[in-house]
Amino acid sequence: MSRIRDKFKARGFGKTYLWIDFVNSEEYDGFGSRSDHLQEGKWLKTFLAHWSLNENFGTDLDLRKLNHFRHLLRRVAQALATGKGVSKRDLIAINKSLHIPLYRVLRKQGNAFYALDLIPLHRGWRWVRAEILSSLAMMLAEGQRPRLKICPNPGCQWLFFDQTHGNSRKWCSDLRCGNRDRVRRFRERHTATILSGSRMSTV
Ligand SMILES: [Zn+2]
Repeated sequence: MSRIRDKFKARGFGKTYLWIDFVNSEEYDGFGSRSDHLQEGKWLKTFLAHWSLNENFGTDLDLRKLNHFRHLLRRVAQALATGKGVSKRDLIAINKSLHIPLYRVLRKQGNAFYALDLIPLHRGWRWVRAEILSSLAMMLAEGQRPRLKICPNPGCQWLFFDQTHGNSRKWCSDLRCGNRDRVRRFRERHTATILSGSRMSTV
């Protein structure tokens, strides 16, 4: 299991916010080729375990519902990353899904420590959806919206939370999309030089 978890993290998951991982479960390889990790049993199991969502989930796992929900979150991410706010329609949908009954439990941890837990009245799909949305709501309530970015490579579109000191990260990965962009721009300059050279030689 730990090797699978290592792989999950090495691919960029499990780092900042649960909802960001959920959106990125629809992943593009940088050239526009799509993978849907929600359809991969191992990925889904690791994702749920990493974010402590694995308890009692699975009986009402509906890929169509997950897809629809992911589509809504991608739209919200797109609006946020481009400086727009969450639309009124999406805010209503988010608040409707956040509305699930919870209760508090005081739990003893060893001899001297206590924890206050927030427990859902019913677990399952509605609870998982509320947990994912609550991670988005938390990020926004913490004033972190400017750190939410989408990789500008159209064949990638990876959603990420910029943790750099100056909020200066542009690409999902400098080695992947950043490097590809540098190579592309170098080739363009090189081609332009050759073309202008050939034009000059014909003068
Ligand atoms: Zn990228």
